[in-house]
Amino acid sequence: MTTNGQASFNVNQLQVFFRGSFVPVSEANVSVMTHALHYGTGVFEGIRGNWNAEQGAINIFRMREHYERLLDGCRILMLNIPYSADDLCRITTELVERNNHDSDIYIRPLAYKSEELVANLKLQDLASDFTLITVPFGNYLGSDRLRCCTSSWRRVDDPMIPARIKACGIYVNSILAKTEATLNGFDEAILLNHDGHVSEGSGENIFMVKDGRIYTPPLEDNVLSGITRDTVMQLSRAEFGMDVVTRTIDRSELYLADEVFLSGTAAHLTPVVELDRRPIGDGEPGPISNELQRMYFDIVVGNNPKYRHWCTQVKPSLVQA
Ligand code: PMP
Repeated sequence: MTTNGQASFNVNQLQVFFRGSFVPVSEANVSVMTHALHYGTGVFEGIRGNWNAEQGAINIFRMREHYERLLDGCRILMLNIPYSADDLCRITTELVERNNHDSDIYIRPLAYKSEELVANLKLQDLASDFTLITVPFGNYLGSDRLRCCTSSWRRVDDPMIPARIKACGIYVNSILAKTEATLNGFDEAILLNHDGHVSEGSGENIFMVKDGRIYTPPLEDNVLSGITRDTVMQLSRAEFGMDVVTRTIDRSELYLADEVFLSGTAAHLTPVVELDRRPIGDGEPGPISNELQRMYFDIVVGNNPKYRHWCTQVKPSLVQA
Protein backbone atom coordinates (compact mmCIF):
# COMPACT_ATOMS: atom_id res chain seq x y z
CA MET A 1 0.00 0.00 0.00
CA THR A 2 1.29 3.47 -0.80
CA THR A 3 1.30 6.28 1.77
CA ASN A 4 -1.69 8.08 0.27
CA GLY A 5 -3.91 5.15 0.99
CA GLN A 6 -4.15 3.77 -2.53
CA ALA A 7 -3.76 0.03 -2.19
CA SER A 8 -1.53 -1.73 -4.72
CA PHE A 9 -3.50 -3.14 -7.65
CA ASN A 10 -3.10 -3.88 -11.32
CA VAL A 11 -4.08 -0.61 -12.96
CA ASN A 12 -4.22 -2.26 -16.40
CA GLN A 13 -7.23 -4.31 -15.35
CA LEU A 14 -9.18 -1.25 -14.35
CA GLN A 15 -12.15 0.05 -16.31
CA VAL A 16 -13.26 3.66 -16.11
CA PHE A 17 -16.25 5.60 -17.41
CA PHE A 18 -15.02 8.00 -20.09
CA ARG A 19 -16.86 9.91 -22.85
CA GLY A 20 -20.06 8.02 -22.21
CA SER A 21 -18.70 4.43 -22.16
CA PHE A 22 -16.90 1.96 -19.94
CA VAL A 23 -13.36 1.54 -21.28
CA PRO A 24 -9.97 0.26 -20.02
CA VAL A 25 -8.08 3.03 -18.23
CA SER A 26 -5.37 2.91 -20.93
CA GLU A 27 -7.94 4.19 -23.44
CA ALA A 28 -9.16 7.08 -21.28
CA ASN A 29 -6.85 9.94 -22.25
CA VAL A 30 -7.37 13.68 -22.67
CA SER A 31 -5.48 16.18 -24.83
CA VAL A 32 -2.85 18.52 -23.39
CA MET A 33 -5.10 21.30 -24.74
CA THR A 34 -7.89 20.46 -22.28
CA HIS A 35 -9.21 23.58 -20.52
CA ALA A 36 -9.46 21.93 -17.07
CA LEU A 37 -5.83 20.82 -17.20
CA HIS A 38 -4.71 24.43 -17.53
CA TYR A 39 -7.21 26.22 -15.31
CA GLY A 40 -8.63 23.70 -12.83
CA THR A 41 -12.12 24.19 -14.27
CA GLY A 42 -13.75 21.09 -12.91
CA VAL A 43 -15.48 19.71 -9.86
CA PHE A 44 -14.89 16.31 -8.38
CA GLU A 45 -16.08 14.02 -5.63
CA GLY A 46 -14.50 11.51 -3.32
CA ILE A 47 -16.85 8.69 -2.40
CA ARG A 48 -15.96 5.60 -0.42
CA GLY A 49 -17.11 2.08 -1.03
CA ASN A 50 -16.51 0.00 2.10
CA TRP A 51 -16.00 -3.74 1.71
CA ASN A 52 -18.08 -5.92 4.03
CA ALA A 53 -16.66 -9.45 3.90
CA GLU A 54 -19.71 -11.02 5.58
CA GLN A 55 -22.04 -9.47 3.03
CA GLY A 56 -19.57 -10.14 0.19
CA ALA A 57 -20.43 -6.61 -0.91
CA ILE A 58 -19.18 -3.06 -1.14
CA ASN A 59 -21.28 -0.46 0.65
CA ILE A 60 -21.10 2.88 -1.20
CA PHE A 61 -21.71 5.52 1.45
CA ARG A 62 -24.20 8.34 0.79
CA MET A 63 -23.58 8.21 -2.95
CA ARG A 64 -26.59 10.31 -3.91
CA GLU A 65 -25.57 13.18 -1.60
CA HIS A 66 -22.12 13.20 -3.18
CA TYR A 67 -23.67 13.52 -6.64
CA GLU A 68 -26.02 16.27 -5.48
CA ARG A 69 -22.96 18.21 -4.31
CA LEU A 70 -21.18 17.51 -7.61
CA LEU A 71 -24.18 18.85 -9.52
CA ASP A 72 -24.23 21.96 -7.29
CA GLY A 73 -20.60 22.52 -8.27
CA CYS A 74 -21.53 21.98 -11.94
CA ARG A 75 -24.08 24.82 -11.65
CA ILE A 76 -21.52 27.22 -10.23
CA LEU A 77 -18.85 26.28 -12.80
CA MET A 78 -21.33 26.10 -15.73
CA LEU A 79 -20.47 22.48 -16.38
CA ASN A 80 -23.26 21.02 -18.47
CA ILE A 81 -23.11 17.27 -18.17
CA PRO A 82 -25.97 15.16 -19.51
CA TYR A 83 -26.55 13.17 -16.32
CA SER A 84 -28.91 13.45 -13.37
CA ALA A 85 -27.95 12.34 -9.85
CA ASP A 86 -29.83 9.09 -10.52
CA ASP A 87 -27.91 8.53 -13.77
CA LEU A 88 -24.62 9.15 -11.97
CA CYS A 89 -25.53 6.65 -9.23
CA ARG A 90 -26.39 4.03 -11.87
CA ILE A 91 -23.12 4.59 -13.77
CA THR A 92 -21.18 4.31 -10.50
CA THR A 93 -22.85 1.10 -9.42
CA GLU A 94 -22.16 -0.43 -12.82
CA LEU A 95 -18.49 0.59 -12.81
CA VAL A 96 -17.96 -0.80 -9.30
CA GLU A 97 -19.53 -4.08 -10.43
CA ARG A 98 -17.43 -4.21 -13.60
CA ASN A 99 -14.20 -3.66 -11.67
CA ASN A 100 -14.95 -6.62 -9.40
CA HIS A 101 -13.60 -4.89 -6.32
CA ASP A 102 -13.42 -6.99 -3.18
CA SER A 103 -11.77 -4.45 -0.85
CA ASP A 104 -12.37 -0.87 0.28
CA ILE A 105 -12.46 1.49 -2.68
CA TYR A 106 -12.35 5.18 -3.50
CA ILE A 107 -14.70 6.45 -6.18
CA ARG A 108 -13.59 9.57 -8.03
CA PRO A 109 -16.15 11.30 -10.29
CA LEU A 110 -14.89 14.34 -12.19
CA ALA A 111 -16.90 16.83 -14.25
CA TYR A 112 -14.62 19.14 -16.19
CA LYS A 113 -14.28 21.63 -19.01
CA SER A 114 -13.10 19.35 -21.78
CA GLU A 115 -12.87 21.98 -24.53
CA GLU A 116 -9.49 21.80 -26.28
CA LEU A 117 -8.25 25.33 -26.67
CA VAL A 118 -5.42 27.22 -25.07
CA ALA A 119 -6.28 30.76 -24.03
CA ASN A 120 -9.87 31.22 -22.91
CA LEU A 121 -10.79 32.49 -19.47
CA LYS A 122 -14.54 31.94 -19.65
CA LEU A 123 -16.85 29.15 -18.62
CA GLN A 124 -19.67 29.71 -21.09
CA ASP A 125 -19.72 28.06 -24.52
CA LEU A 126 -17.05 25.52 -23.56
CA ALA A 127 -17.70 21.77 -23.78
CA SER A 128 -17.90 19.80 -20.54
CA ASP A 129 -17.47 16.11 -19.86
CA PHE A 130 -17.74 13.63 -17.01
CA THR A 131 -15.43 10.78 -16.08
CA LEU A 132 -15.40 8.26 -13.26
CA ILE A 133 -12.64 6.15 -11.72
CA THR A 134 -12.77 3.53 -8.95
CA VAL A 135 -9.61 2.29 -7.20
CA PRO A 136 -8.82 0.15 -4.15
CA PHE A 137 -8.18 2.46 -1.19
CA GLY A 138 -7.05 2.03 2.39
CA ASN A 139 -6.15 4.40 5.21
CA TYR A 140 -5.76 7.99 3.99
CA LEU A 141 -4.24 9.95 6.85
CA GLY A 142 -1.75 7.28 7.91
CA SER A 143 -2.53 7.72 11.62
CA ASP A 144 -5.56 7.29 13.87
CA ARG A 145 -4.28 9.93 16.33
CA LEU A 146 -3.51 13.08 14.42
CA ARG A 147 -0.82 15.62 15.15
CA CYS A 148 -1.83 18.80 13.36
CA CYS A 149 -0.52 22.31 12.81
CA THR A 150 -2.24 25.55 12.00
CA SER A 151 -1.35 26.29 8.40
CA SER A 152 0.36 29.49 7.33
CA TRP A 153 -1.90 29.27 4.25
CA ARG A 154 -5.42 30.69 4.61
CA ARG A 155 -8.56 29.00 3.30
CA VAL A 156 -9.83 30.65 0.12
CA ASP A 157 -12.75 32.97 0.67
CA ASP A 158 -16.15 32.52 -1.01
CA PRO A 159 -15.73 35.63 -3.21
CA MET A 160 -12.42 34.15 -4.47
CA ILE A 161 -13.40 30.54 -5.16
CA PRO A 162 -16.38 29.04 -3.30
CA ALA A 163 -15.03 26.56 -0.73
CA ARG A 164 -18.43 24.92 -0.24
CA ILE A 165 -18.02 22.97 -3.51
CA LYS A 166 -15.20 20.67 -4.59
CA ALA A 167 -13.77 22.79 -7.39
CA CYS A 168 -10.56 21.26 -8.79
CA GLY A 169 -8.54 24.49 -8.79
CA ILE A 170 -9.29 25.16 -5.13
CA TYR A 171 -7.25 22.11 -4.19
CA VAL A 172 -4.04 24.03 -4.88
CA ASN A 173 -4.95 25.77 -1.60
CA SER A 174 -5.40 22.44 0.23
CA ILE A 175 -2.25 20.96 -1.31
CA LEU A 176 -0.07 23.92 -0.30
CA ALA A 177 -1.31 23.55 3.28
CA LYS A 178 -0.94 19.76 3.41
CA THR A 179 2.54 19.94 1.87
CA GLU A 180 3.70 22.47 4.45
CA ALA A 181 2.24 20.42 7.32
CA THR A 182 3.70 17.09 6.24
CA LEU A 183 7.13 18.55 5.38
CA ASN A 184 7.14 19.94 8.92
CA GLY A 185 6.39 16.48 10.34
CA PHE A 186 2.66 16.88 11.09
CA ASP A 187 -0.14 14.63 9.87
CA GLU A 188 -2.52 17.34 8.73
CA ALA A 189 -3.00 21.10 8.42
CA ILE A 190 -5.82 23.12 9.96
CA LEU A 191 -6.57 26.17 7.85
CA LEU A 192 -7.87 29.46 9.19
CA ASN A 193 -10.11 31.53 6.97
CA HIS A 194 -9.57 35.06 5.75
CA ASP A 195 -10.86 36.45 9.09
CA GLY A 196 -8.49 34.26 11.13
CA HIS A 197 -11.19 31.86 12.30
CA VAL A 198 -10.96 28.09 12.12
CA SER A 199 -12.11 26.76 8.77
CA GLU A 200 -11.18 23.10 8.14
CA GLY A 201 -8.44 20.59 7.40
CA SER A 202 -6.91 20.31 3.92
CA GLY A 203 -9.40 17.56 3.11
CA GLU A 204 -11.57 17.31 6.22
CA ASN A 205 -14.11 19.24 8.25
CA ILE A 206 -13.29 19.94 11.88
CA PHE A 207 -15.21 19.44 15.12
CA MET A 208 -14.39 20.49 18.67
CA VAL A 209 -15.87 19.13 21.93
CA LYS A 210 -15.99 21.41 24.97
CA ASP A 211 -17.87 20.75 28.23
CA GLY A 212 -19.95 18.00 26.59
CA ARG A 213 -21.07 20.04 23.57
CA ILE A 214 -19.92 19.51 19.98
CA TYR A 215 -19.06 22.52 17.79
CA THR A 216 -18.19 22.94 14.12
CA PRO A 217 -17.66 26.07 11.99
CA PRO A 218 -20.56 27.17 9.76
CA LEU A 219 -20.31 26.88 5.95
CA GLU A 220 -20.01 30.68 5.82
CA ASP A 221 -16.54 30.31 7.37
CA ASN A 222 -15.37 28.88 4.02
CA VAL A 223 -15.96 25.25 4.75
CA LEU A 224 -16.80 22.43 2.34
CA SER A 225 -20.35 21.21 2.82
CA GLY A 226 -19.04 17.85 4.00
CA ILE A 227 -21.13 14.72 3.84
CA THR A 228 -19.28 13.16 6.78
CA ARG A 229 -19.84 16.48 8.62
CA ASP A 230 -23.56 16.09 7.98
CA THR A 231 -23.37 12.44 9.09
CA VAL A 232 -21.75 13.48 12.39
CA MET A 233 -24.43 16.14 12.89
CA GLN A 234 -27.25 13.69 12.21
CA LEU A 235 -25.74 11.01 14.48
CA SER A 236 -25.16 13.45 17.29
CA ARG A 237 -28.81 14.53 17.18
CA ALA A 238 -30.31 11.05 16.72
CA GLU A 239 -28.02 9.02 18.98
CA PHE A 240 -26.91 11.54 21.64
CA GLY A 241 -29.97 13.82 21.56
CA MET A 242 -27.55 16.70 21.08
CA ASP A 243 -27.43 19.26 18.27
CA VAL A 244 -23.96 20.12 17.01
CA VAL A 245 -23.49 23.86 17.51
CA THR A 246 -22.42 25.54 14.26
CA ARG A 247 -20.61 28.74 15.12
CA THR A 248 -17.38 30.53 14.35
CA ILE A 249 -14.45 29.00 16.25
CA ASP A 250 -11.24 30.75 17.28
CA ARG A 251 -7.85 29.07 16.93
CA SER A 252 -7.22 29.34 20.68
CA GLU A 253 -10.50 27.55 21.40
CA LEU A 254 -9.06 24.47 19.71
CA TYR A 255 -6.08 24.58 22.09
CA LEU A 256 -8.48 24.61 25.05
CA ALA A 257 -10.93 22.02 23.67
CA ASP A 258 -11.55 18.73 25.45
CA GLU A 259 -11.54 16.90 22.10
CA VAL A 260 -10.97 17.76 18.44
CA PHE A 261 -11.64 15.46 15.51
CA LEU A 262 -11.63 15.65 11.71
CA SER A 263 -14.26 14.21 9.40
CA GLY A 264 -14.10 13.37 5.72
CA THR A 265 -14.78 10.61 3.26
CA ALA A 266 -11.11 9.70 2.87
CA ALA A 267 -10.18 10.61 6.47
CA HIS A 268 -13.25 8.96 8.09
CA LEU A 269 -13.65 10.34 11.62
CA THR A 270 -10.22 10.73 13.16
CA PRO A 271 -9.23 12.26 16.53
CA VAL A 272 -6.69 15.09 16.69
CA VAL A 273 -4.52 14.57 19.78
CA GLU A 274 -2.13 17.47 19.30
CA LEU A 275 -2.30 20.89 17.66
CA ASP A 276 0.71 23.19 17.22
CA ARG A 277 2.63 20.95 19.69
CA ARG A 278 -0.01 21.40 22.40
CA PRO A 279 -1.92 18.29 23.55
CA ILE A 280 -5.68 18.44 23.02
CA GLY A 281 -7.30 17.56 26.35
CA ASP A 282 -5.16 14.85 27.93
CA GLY A 283 -3.50 14.07 24.58
CA GLU A 284 -5.62 10.95 23.99
CA PRO A 285 -8.69 10.47 21.77
CA GLY A 286 -11.71 11.54 23.86
CA PRO A 287 -14.91 9.59 24.66
CA ILE A 288 -17.24 11.49 22.30
CA SER A 289 -14.82 11.15 19.35
CA ASN A 290 -14.38 7.46 20.13
CA GLU A 291 -18.11 6.77 20.38
CA LEU A 292 -18.96 8.70 17.21
CA GLN A 293 -16.14 6.93 15.38
CA ARG A 294 -17.36 3.52 16.53
CA MET A 295 -20.91 4.26 15.33
CA TYR A 296 -19.64 5.72 12.06
CA PHE A 297 -17.48 2.68 11.19
CA ASP A 298 -20.39 0.35 11.88
CA ILE A 299 -22.69 2.40 9.66
CA VAL A 300 -20.37 2.88 6.66
CA VAL A 301 -19.83 -0.85 6.22
CA GLY A 302 -23.58 -1.42 6.19
CA ASN A 303 -23.79 -3.12 9.60
CA ASN A 304 -26.33 -0.80 11.24
CA PRO A 305 -29.88 -1.50 9.93
CA LYS A 306 -31.10 1.93 11.09
CA TYR A 307 -28.73 3.67 8.67
CA ARG A 308 -28.57 1.09 5.88
CA HIS A 309 -30.42 3.51 3.59
CA TRP A 310 -27.15 5.49 3.47
CA CYS A 311 -25.37 2.51 1.89
CA THR A 312 -25.71 1.27 -1.69
CA GLN A 313 -24.69 -2.36 -1.70
CA VAL A 314 -22.78 -3.60 -4.75
CA LYS A 315 -21.59 -7.16 -5.16
CA PRO A 316 -18.61 -7.82 -7.42
CA SER A 317 -19.67 -9.28 -10.74
CA LEU A 318 -17.33 -11.66 -12.46
CA VAL A 319 -18.60 -10.56 -15.88
CA GLN A 320 -15.95 -8.62 -17.77
CA ALA A 321 -17.14 -6.31 -20.53
N1 PMP B 1 -13.15 19.70 3.43
C1 PMP B 1 -12.41 19.51 2.33
C2 PMP B 1 -11.57 20.64 1.84
C3 PMP B 1 -12.43 18.29 1.65
O1 PMP B 1 -11.68 18.09 0.55
C4 PMP B 1 -13.21 17.23 2.16
C5 PMP B 1 -13.24 15.90 1.47
N2 PMP B 1 -14.24 15.82 0.51
C6 PMP B 1 -13.98 17.48 3.32
C7 PMP B 1 -13.93 18.73 3.93
C8 PMP B 1 -14.90 16.43 3.86
O2 PMP B 1 -16.02 16.27 3.02
P1 PMP B 1 -16.77 14.89 2.90
O3 PMP B 1 -17.13 14.47 4.26
O4 PMP B 1 -17.95 15.17 2.05
O5 PMP B 1 -15.83 13.94 2.24
